[in-house]
Amino acid sequence: MRIGIFGGSFNPIHNGHIHLARAAAEEFGLEKIYLVPSRISPHKSSDEYVSGEDRLAMLRLAVADDPLFVVSSYELSSDRVSYSIYTVEHFRRRHPEDEMYLLVGSDMLLSFDRWYRYEDILSEVTLCVVSREQGDMKLLKKKAAELGRAGDIVISSSAPVVVSSTEVRKKIAKNKNFACYLNENVVQYIRSKGLYSYRGDTSLLFDPDEKKKYLKAHLSAKRYVHSLNVAAECRKLAQKYGEDPDKAYFAGLLHDICKELPDAEQKELAVSSGFTVCREELETRSLWHAIAGAYFIKTEFGVEDIDILNAVRFHTVGRAGMSRLEEIVYLGDLISADRDYKDVDRMRKLSYSDLNGAMLEAFAFSIKSVVKKGGLVPVCTAEGYNFYTRLKRDEKKISDPKRGLK
Ligand code: ATP
Repeated sequence: MRIGIFGGSFNPIHNGHIHLARAAAEEFGLEKIYLVPSRISPHKSSDEYVSGEDRLAMLRLAVADDPLFVVSSYELSSDRVSYSIYTVEHFRRRHPEDEMYLLVGSDMLLSFDRWYRYEDILSEVTLCVVSREQGDMKLLKKKAAELGRAGDIVISSSAPVVVSSTEVRKKIAKNKNFACYLNENVVQYIRSKGLYSYRGDTSLLFDPDEKKKYLKAHLSAKRYVHSLNVAAECRKLAQKYGEDPDKAYFAGLLHDICKELPDAEQKELAVSSGFTVCREELETRSLWHAIAGAYFIKTEFGVEDIDILNAVRFHTVGRAGMSRLEEIVYLGDLISADRDYKDVDRMRKLSYSDLNGAMLEAFAFSIKSVVKKGGLVPVCTAEGYNFYTRLKRDEKKISDPKRGLK
C-alpha cells in the first residue's frame, strides 16, 4: 500500500492543504494519508495561536468521514521536538512494508536541505511536492535534481491553489471574507469559537427584560422559572469558560421559547426554518421546539447572531464541534437549579471542572434515555457523542503520551 504523511501547523486547515493531499493521492496512487498537526509554541501571539485541540477538531471537520484521511495526534502528543524525521520513523514502524510518501508544498522543498536529518528522511520516504504558486515548476525541478541524489522526489503536475493559513488568519482578524478558503464546517467552527480574533455580529442589542416579559406571557409558570434558571446557569458557565456572559444569559433565556406552542405550530416552524434537520428529529415531537425556537427568535426578534441561533437550535440534540456557547446552553439546560434527577449534582460538578467530560456524559445520558424509551437517536447526537469521545481520548493521549498513539 502507498501511504502519505502530511504534516503542518494547519492553523487553520485550508483548501490549499486539501488540494495538496488530493492531488498527491490521485497522481501517485496514495490510499491513506495521515494528517499530522505539529505542536505550536504557546508563546506565539495569542491571536494567531489556537490550541492543538482546536486544530485537531478543524482537521476532523474538514475531512469528515473521507476514508482517505486519518487525523493523527502523534506530534501533539509527543513530548519531544516535532522533527519530521521522528514522525517518519514513527510511521515507518507502523508501516514496515508500505511505500511512504512525505507530502509537502513547494516552499518546503526549497528549504528542505535545511531540515534536520533530511537525508535520512529521503532514505525512508518519497518526497512528494505540490506547487504553491504559478510558474515555479522550473525552479522546483532544479531543486529536486540537486536533492535527488539523496532519494526520490516527485513533483505533482497539478496547478497551484494559492492560499496560506497566514492569509486566512489575517482576513479573519480584519473581518474580511475568508469562507471561500476553508471547508464550511471549519468556517462555522472558527466563527462559533471566535478563533483568530473573529468577532462576528455585534449588532444585536441584548434586552433580556423585554424578552422576559414575552416569556412570562407565553409560558407556564414552571417553564418560565426554568428559563430564568437556565439563563442564570449559562451566565455562570460563561464566566467560568470565558464566553460573553450577557450573550449566554440571552441564549439560555430563550432556549425553550417555543416549547409550549401547539405541536403542529412547532413542526410548521421547524420545517419552514430552512435549517438542516435530520429525519429522526422530524420524527421526534419533543425535539421540534429547539429548531422552531431558533427560527422564531430570528424572524420575530431579529436575532442574527449565528452562535445564539445555533445554541438554541442544538440545545436538545447537540452535534459535533459545538461552539463554547452551544456547549454552555446544552449543559445549562441540564444542570439548572430546578433540575432534580438522580445524578444532577455530579453533572453540576463535572460541568464546572471538565467541560468536555461533562459534554460526553450528557451525550451518553441522552442516548441512553432515548434508547431506553425505544426512540430514534438523531445523527447529530451520535456524531456529537463520537466527537467528545475522541476529544477525551486525545486529552488522555496528550497528558499521557505513552498511550497508544495513532
Ligand atoms: P502559515 O501561513 O501559517 O505558515 P501554511 O498555509 O503555509 O501556514 P502549513 O500548515 O504551515 O500551512 O503547511 C503545511 C504544509 O502544507 C506545508 O508543506 C506547506 O507547504 C503545505 N501547503 C500549505 N498551503 C499550501 C497550498 N496552498 N498549496 C500547496 N501546499 C500547501
